Amino acid sequence: MKTEQIQQHRNFIGGEWVPASGGARYAIHNPARPRECLGEFADSTEADIATAIDAARSAADAWANTPPPQRGAVLFRLAQLLEESRTELARIITLEQGKALAEAAGEVGRAAAEARFMAGEASRAVGQTFPSERPGYTCQTVVEPLGVVAAISPWNFPVVTPVRKIAPALTWGNTVVFKPSSLTPWSAVFLVQLLEKAGLPPRVVNLVTGPGARVGDALVRDHRIDGITFTGSTSVGTQIAEGAAQRLARAQLELGGKNPAVVIDCPDLEDAAREIVAAAFQCSGQRCTAISRVIVDAEQADALVERIVAHVTRLEVGDGLDPGTTMGPLVSHGQLRTVDRYVRQGVESGCALLTGGRALTGNPESDGYYYAPTVFDRVGPESPLAVEEIFGPVLPIVRVQGLDQAIAIANGTRYGLAASLFTSRLGYVQEFTRRVQAGMIHVNHGTASQAHVPFGGVKNSGQGAYSIGPSARDFYTNVKAVYVRW
Ligand code: NAD
Repeated sequence: MKTEQIQQHRNFIGGEWVPASGGARYAIHNPARPRECLGEFADSTEADIATAIDAARSAADAWANTPPPQRGAVLFRLAQLLEESRTELARIITLEQGKALAEAAGEVGRAAAEARFMAGEASRAVGQTFPSERPGYTCQTVVEPLGVVAAISPWNFPVVTPVRKIAPALTWGNTVVFKPSSLTPWSAVFLVQLLEKAGLPPRVVNLVTGPGARVGDALVRDHRIDGITFTGSTSVGTQIAEGAAQRLARAQLELGGKNPAVVIDCPDLEDAAREIVAAAFQCSGQRCTAISRVIVDAEQADALVERIVAHVTRLEVGDGLDPGTTMGPLVSHGQLRTVDRYVRQGVESGCALLTGGRALTGNPESDGYYYAPTVFDRVGPESPLAVEEIFGPVLPIVRVQGLDQAIAIANGTRYGLAASLFTSRLGYVQEFTRRVQAGMIHVNHGTASQAHVPFGGVKNSGQGAYSIGPSARDFYTNVKAVYVRW
């Protein structure tokens, strides 16, 4: 592509599309063809962040005082616009993130569904009325916006994760400074354009692009930001928690996972294998809730492993824009190197490599960040493959004896995001649900969540209110208890 054709995108601050104050830009590239530049984006400075926060602050009172059903109406329009733009936006997601086009379209549809749920929340009852212990009093709670919220999002779901933050923020009357991942700013620009079209008043949502270490950190440290909603890695989330704690700002952290699928006394191993492979390899395994280890009872291990490998070898790896592709490239060369490092360690430590285990192009920087979907069997429960978040198309299988050992191993990581169980035994369902350390539990299906059900994790997988569904309100609002003597 010639330089003059490269599209230049700007920040959205104070209701205007503006370049970074220093004039600097950075380029993003297509992970399927890394030499293809997709556009240039504002490389924001600390001054840009300060201006964006000023704008969000100045709009806060008016937006908080806008009747909530009117705020919801903007989100209903956003949902509609997301659906109408599904084809165009899905293409942008695939180009900058790499996932297969059908998955990208699914992401846009899911974002519309989440926006619509949150639009409805604006008209639902808030606050509670309590009986008084003293005669002649009423006691009630009222709910107010938190204030100005910083929304910091990762690259793996560049549309649905921002919507999951911005929609509840708006519904409950907050203004927003939005900082997307520096790898996927194009979807973010498109989303903010849709918010504009939906009739959102100027300054209510402000977009600043650029690297996390500068742009994200400046947001976290600024005392005018009342709350930080962050989705990303546990290591960055820990830094954000520290920064927020310094000034007692509220933080909602949605972090990494190492999500087990336990298979024991399962009547339909073919179905289990299909569900596991879909949940493990969608988005090339770059999903926080991806199944990233299988823990199988020895009695069913051989039969399950054979079926898993059969499904994996049917995956079509290629450019996400090709209609036949079921697994796209990894998002970046860095991600590819990380995956390969774990795979090499696994091979060297004697884990049984059943399929995959290598990059699919000799020169990823010119031919794409493609990695073969990889399955390891007979992985030790303490191997890095079994306990660390790899965030790629690598599925380790751990063989165990019985449910107690399966649960002990499932709980043997620092994470606690999602967990699946495949079984026909109701008693196992009860035991697993009670004892497994995870925020989301799925029985007899993969780790797919829904657009109105609380979503979050325990241990090092998250902190603060769960997002999605009604629980999101706890992050985006303050509660006042009001006593009236009459
Ligand atoms: P990341 O932590 O590297 O980055 C996330 C965001 O934080 C980006 O916008 C980044 O620019 C910004 N950032 C980086 N350093 C920062 C700093 N010092 N201060 C403030 N912001 C900073 O994560 P990633 O690589 O973009 O995404 C992958 C990770 O996200 C995985 O660990 C995955 O499990 C996790 N994730 C979690 C969920 C969930 O809901 N639990 C969902 C999706 C992804």
